[in-house]
Order: sequence, then structure tokens, then C-alpha cells
Amino acid sequence: MTRVYSFPRGGIAFEDPTVPSRDSSVTAFLPALSVIPLVQHPGGRAYPIVSIGDTVKEGMLIGRGQGMGSANVHATVPGRVIRMVSWKMADGKTNDALVIRMEGSFEKLGKREEVFPWESMLPYDLQRLIAEYGVVEMDGLGKPVSDSIALLRNAPEPITLVVRCVFDDPWLAADYVLCRERLKAVIEGSRIAARTVRAARIIFAVSQGEKDLGSRFLAEAGAWEPPSYLALVGSRYPQRNQRELELVLRNFCKHEGFELGSLVVLGPATLAAVHDAVKLKKPVLDRYIAVGGSAVKRPQVMKVRIGTRIREVFEQCGGFTGTPRRIASGSPLLGRGVMDLDEPVVKSTYAVFALLEAQKAGNVPDCCISCGECRNVCPVGLDPEELYKRTRVNGIPREALLSRAAECHGCGCCEVVCPSRLPLSSAICASALRGN
Ligand code: SF4
Ligand code: SF4
Repeated sequence: MTRVYSFPRGGIAFEDPTVPSRDSSVTAFLPALSVIPLVQHPGGRAYPIVSIGDTVKEGMLIGRGQGMGSANVHATVPGRVIRMVSWKMADGKTNDALVIRMEGSFEKLGKREEVFPWESMLPYDLQRLIAEYGVVEMDGLGKPVSDSIALLRNAPEPITLVVRCVFDDPWLAADYVLCRERLKAVIEGSRIAARTVRAARIIFAVSQGEKDLGSRFLAEAGAWEPPSYLALVGSRYPQRNQRELELVLRNFCKHEGFELGSLVVLGPATLAAVHDAVKLKKPVLDRYIAVGGSAVKRPQVMKVRIGTRIREVFEQCGGFTGTPRRIASGSPLLGRGVMDLDEPVVKSTYAVFALLEAQKAGNVPDCCISCGECRNVCPVGLDPEELYKRTRVNGIPREALLSRAAECHGCGCCEVVCPSRLPLSSAICASALRGN
């Protein structure tokens, strides 16, 4: 029997009947107007290199990343830049976007793709292509992949590339569909990334329920260098979290008899983007997203151009069944509220949902009933109830508790199970960041 590696305590089995089916994807219509934000990453705004009135080609560089944390931005459709718009994001920062009206012919869409050999390229040149085509971590905050590679330069060897196919959250449906529809691209992207970081091995970390997918990965990747391994991991949330994943992979490596070393963890959407950047010299033009929630008429996984407005994405799913109470991007566990339906899909949008009822804390908080559920699910072993109460009281010394709050990695498990709908993880994370 194959061994399954799971983190030892806490976590939740998260299920949601309102997620779309994982059978296949639907390609969304091309947007007549696309809104391309200059911030699609955690760092500074990309510097715009086109002006209003300019004609742009599909895939053309329109914003140049500036320093660590910032990534290049490209036009995802051909057309004309008709205006610049600004809006406040959920974190209070301002974002600017170039609005492109689609005109003219496509350079890449529907054309036969030219492929470029990469096997004899040096790691530095591979990294340069990954940066040039604006590849970011597409299942997280959008951190540029070339930054993660640069940080590994001085990391102790061996280096292990982990391909994270851990479906501990049903809202990762788009990643699952992408794995099935673009398996070869994900695997070749893994090989390119492994060569770029000089990885000694690749571990495909796959949820236990997706063993068949894992076997397909190994069957395709098995003949290549560096050697590949399949680690079956638990599917309890937050197994895909870096801390919980590293914990179980250390056990896996001990069992297999090799050293895990320094890790670089990338998801399938990111690796497909690495493949496209290096092998096809193509920037991130589109991505798979899961669209669903109780307020959506026809939930589905869609392949959507970056810059498509979220309003249009919902319209292509048949619109709403009623007035949504909550619209957000990501998963209901950790989703970021969508402030305006004219916000666009960006590189890191893996899901958008609209709910008739709130599924998570954030409404009017009730009182703690000391049920202890939050303690039971915390994978770090914290006491969210106590930490939360301390964050609400001013003027008393609480350094010891705050050092514990800093251990919170914001998985949101405590908040999901709290019967009083208290905003536990949000308050604890905010308090740890503020240091009070
Ligand atoms: S889960 Fe909520 S109600 Fe229960 S102890 Fe924790 S904070 Fe209190
Ligand atoms: S959000 Fe923090 S406190 Fe809450 S369960 Fe996760 S790690 Fe524990």
C-alpha cells in the first residue's frame, strides 16, 4: 500500500458543493475591452511603456517591472490603449491599469506555435526568459518566479523542486483541470524550472485522492533528468501551505533515504507559464479560473484572458441566481473581496465566486462561546480564541502572546469553524503585522 504523508494535527476537510465541475474547461470570449493592471504582483507598479492612443500587439510588453517583487506586464489582446484607470484595492493601495480596446489581428491566438529548444540553455538565460515574459506564482500573491530563483542562488544544496498539486481546497478546480488538459506543458515546465534552479530532483506532491494524476506525472517525467518522485500527501486543508508541505516532505525524504535540502515550490499553472515563456516565448496571456458559488447560475472552469473584467466572467456563466451577498477572488477560506465587478482577472486569479449567503466570518461578529473548535483545527497548535481576545484589548502587556501570533500563517481554519463567526485569523494576522 502506498504511504500517504499528512501533517500531524489540526486542519479541516473543506468541501463546497458550489464549486464548478472538474471535468473540463470552457474558453471564455475575448474581451472587447481589457483592463491590464500594472500591479499584478506584490512589489512596485510596473512602469508603463506605452501611452494612450498607442497601438499594441498581442503579447507586447506594455509595463516593465521595477525591481524585486515587480513583474513585466503584457498586452493580452491586440488593440489600442484608450485610457488609464485607477482604483483602490482591498489592501487600501492604489492600482493603475491600461484599458485596451481590441482591434486588429492576433499574432498568437489560432496560429501554429513555434517552439524553441531550451535544453542547452544556461540557467541564467532561462531565468532571464522567465522574467522577460512576466511569469509569477499564479496560485499565490503573484510573486515573480525569477525573484524566487534569484533567492535560491545562495541556498544550501541540494535544491529540490516541488510541484505542488495538492487539492486540499475544492476551489483549486482550475489547477486540476489544467493538469489534465496541459499535463505535458506542466511536466516540461517542471524540467525547465528544475534546470533553472539546478535542482537535484523533482518531487510531485499530489493529494492522495489524485493518485492517477500522480502516476501520469511519473509516467511522463520518469525518463528525464533530474530524477522525479511522487509523494502522495494528505488532502486536509492546509496541506498545500509551505509549512505543512515541507513538514510532510521531510518525512517522505527520510523514508526514501535522501536529503530534501532547499525547496522551491511551484504550482501547475506557474509551471505551464514557465513552459510557455521558455519554449514558446509567450507571456502569460490567459489562465484557468474556477467560477462558482451559490449565486452563480452555471459554475464552470474557464480559460480566461488576463484583463477580462470579472463582470463578464460571471455573465458567461449565466449571471446570478439572486443578489450576491459576497463576491470575492480566491477561495471562500481566504478570498479577497472584489470591490468592483469591473476589476479584471489578473495572473494570480485562480477562482472567483459569488455567494448568496456568507460562508465565512466577516459579518457582524457574535460572542465567543468557548467551544474550543478553533484550537482543535489550528495546525500550528495556537489558541486562536485567546489570541483573538488579546487583540481586542488595549493597554495590557501581551508580548508573549504576540510572539505566538507571529507563528500564525493565516490559513483561516479557525475562522471557518468558529460558530460565532468571529474574524479570528484576520485579527490575529493583522495584529502580528502591526506588532500590537
Ligand atoms: S471557535 Fe469561536 S466560539 Fe469557539 S472558542 Fe474559538 S473563538 Fe470561541
Ligand atoms: S489562521 Fe492562524 S491561528 Fe487560525 S488556525 Fe490558521 S494558523 Fe492557527
